[in-house]
Amino acid sequence: MKIIGLIGGMSWESTITYYEILNKEVAKRLGGFHSSKILMYNVDFAELEENMSVGNWEGNAKILTDAAGRLEKAGADFIVIATNTMHKLVPDIEKNIHIPILHIADATADAIKEKGMVKVGLLGTRFTMTQDFIAERLQEAGLEVLVPGKEDIAIVDNVIFDELCHGRIIDTSRREYQRIISDMKEAGAQGVILGCTEIGMLIKPEDSILPVFDTTIIHAQKAVEKAFEQA
Ligand code: GLU
Repeated sequence: MKIIGLIGGMSWESTITYYEILNKEVAKRLGGFHSSKILMYNVDFAELEENMSVGNWEGNAKILTDAAGRLEKAGADFIVIATNTMHKLVPDIEKNIHIPILHIADATADAIKEKGMVKVGLLGTRFTMTQDFIAERLQEAGLEVLVPGKEDIAIVDNVIFDELCHGRIIDTSRREYQRIISDMKEAGAQGVILGCTEIGMLIKPEDSILPVFDTTIIHAQKAVEKAFEQA
């Protein structure tokens, strides 16, 4: 079993889910007392959030490159970045390490294509929904990606940063997300990507009129698959 280098804390609420799935998936495969071999670096999310809010992506690239470097030095075989948004910085991080990064969008694209879908909605932070670091990667995999309109982007983003990253699950926000997912269905989406690692805390498959692709679950499961791949 390979050692997973997990960069967590973005937010720590969703890293709990990663930790749980990584261990459960290994136990499922090997049974008994087996659990996942993980090296984890938990960032101080306040530093990253502050940098994002002023557009200091260079600052975040430095923090995450440092984290990935420490995990590599400690013996991790590959890196899992437990957030969609920070995948914006994958090219910067990759330049400075010698082990691979398991990209969240690649794992998600595989899961969608396995279901035979081609057109999907994408929910996430304002960065994930308006920039191309996730959408373009999905498009390169042959998928068509829909995002909400401007006002709904703000709603989805505010719920992530003001509520979910603080562990607050609010019914009215769930209803707003459900409305936005219904609109995506109307626009032809066959499924919806929960493209922020906290959204699964608010929207479960049974809450959604469309099949959901929860990036936290998909990414963590893929990490365990990779941990068992022959070198
Ligand atoms: N966890 C979120 C994501 O998956 C947002 C937090 C962050 O900005 O990293 O995008």
